[in-house]
Amino acid sequence: MVKARRRAGAVEQGPAGPTSDPASDPASSDDERAHLRAAVAAADEAVLALDPDGGLRQWNLAARRILGAAVLLEPGADVALAFTQPDEVRRLLGRCAAGEPVRGERVVVTTPDGRGGPAVLTLVPLARGGVVRALTAVLRDVSEETLAQERLAHAEERILRAETLAHSGTFLIDATDRTAQWSLGMHLVYGLTPGEVAPSLAAHADLLPEPQRDRLARMVSEALYGRVPPSLEHERTQPDGTEVWIHLAVAPLFGVDGRIVGVSGLCQDVSDRVRAEQALQEALALERAAADELRQVDSMRKEFLATVAHELRGPVATVLGLVPFLRKRAPEQAELIDPIERKARQMGRLVETLLDDARLAAGRVELRVTRFAVRPAAGEVLHERVGGAEGAAWSLACPADLEIDMDREAFTLTLGNLVGNAVKYAGDGLVEVSAHREAQEVVVSVADHGPGIPLELQEHLFEAFYRVPGSEQVARGSGFGLSIARRYVELHGGTISVDSAPGRGARFTFRVPLGVPGTLGR
Ligand code: ADP
Repeated sequence: MVKARRRAGAVEQGPAGPTSDPASDPASSDDERAHLRAAVAAADEAVLALDPDGGLRQWNLAARRILGAAVLLEPGADVALAFTQPDEVRRLLGRCAAGEPVRGERVVVTTPDGRGGPAVLTLVPLARGGVVRALTAVLRDVSEETLAQERLAHAEERILRAETLAHSGTFLIDATDRTAQWSLGMHLVYGLTPGEVAPSLAAHADLLPEPQRDRLARMVSEALYGRVPPSLEHERTQPDGTEVWIHLAVAPLFGVDGRIVGVSGLCQDVSDRVRAEQALQEALALERAAADELRQVDSMRKEFLATVAHELRGPVATVLGLVPFLRKRAPEQAELIDPIERKARQMGRLVETLLDDARLAAGRVELRVTRFAVRPAAGEVLHERVGGAEGAAWSLACPADLEIDMDREAFTLTLGNLVGNAVKYAGDGLVEVSAHREAQEVVVSVADHGPGIPLELQEHLFEAFYRVPGSEQVARGSGFGLSIARRYVELHGGTISVDSAPGRGARFTFRVPLGVPGTLGR
């Protein structure tokens, strides 16, 4: 026994063939035995010769690496103690000692850090004369393999998590045999359980609606030629009845040598996006229909107003025409005739405003632009709209030689609107009109000392029908005047703006370029 033990120690340095017993194999030559010993000594697996009860007899170099930290490697040592579950290993040894080989059992070798090293154990009984006299154990360290498998499993889990989050999946098609691999995410996108459908290009095509099946095959062929074909989107009714939209894209897959080895594909459930787009389209269509309807109502309203205004023009002109006769016939009735004239003029202005708006909206305005002096033209407007003498209720700061290029009527209307508003909204304060030339523009301003207009409302002032809330308590109005003034000024290629703050009055300014007098509009 002592001798045997000494021999056992030498195995690590030299060849030892625990699985080969020369006595049971008379054909073995010394050479063959030497080869075998060398192979065992160089093996990656731990090869151990054991007593039937698990006592260590001989071991190779790999055994020291795999078991060395777990058990003292010396002849007679109980090998079961090297494992985290020694009883389980003893049971396997017992099975082998009874003559039954044990193949590829997973065991765990105790490691110093206590985590255990996974290994695979194979036991072969060595019998002579029907009696098991020794066991050969081969132990393969699979810790790296297990680690790699665990890493792969983690990577796959991460991919699945990412795919699930992105509602997407991937597939691969091999260039050589056209076999396909589908990721778990791809199964989920198509509402399938893995194993339900064998992955293949044909099976994938079957998941698409009939008209798009050929397209997928064409996309794959294109990718195999190295091109990235346009992606496709298809509708699908899932096995549970849900309707989904799937986006499919493929691209060539290149090997390390640059050759095309297959096709990689991505499928993504884009139902949410498609539904949002559809909802948006529907909403847009509804909005368009509503806008059309509004436009129609608006144009009917405008037409109606224009007709009414047109019809009122005659009677208003008749009333105003009769006023001088009335004054002559009954001069003592002035207190009755004055309000008639005032109201008829007011009505006449409203009628003209409405007709102007209708003409401007229909683009039926023809402007005869002439060059005229600003001062007398502005003075006329002030006399008509404010009345009284200069300096009392109004002032006019304007160089006598300042000329402007505008349609005369449009000028009167624009300035009239601004001056009229100053009178209406600013009460008794002075209405200040000024005009001057700035480069190639003539600038005309109307300022008052009234309540002014809050900044946030100013952007709406030039819109038709807009009135500052509360204006109706101050003065009657239609909300048209400024929008008409703006359109007239813009037709001349000019701009109009307001500068005002609550309590600090308002200054409306329009600028018109000096141009070539002539006809504008149609
Ligand atoms: P209207 O005077 O018929 O209401 P406008 O288009 O001329 O219509 O004016 C729009 C609104 O702007 C008026 O309702 C009024 O609220 C406001 N506004 C115009 N001019 C002045 C001003 N000088 N001071 C204060 N508010 C004004």
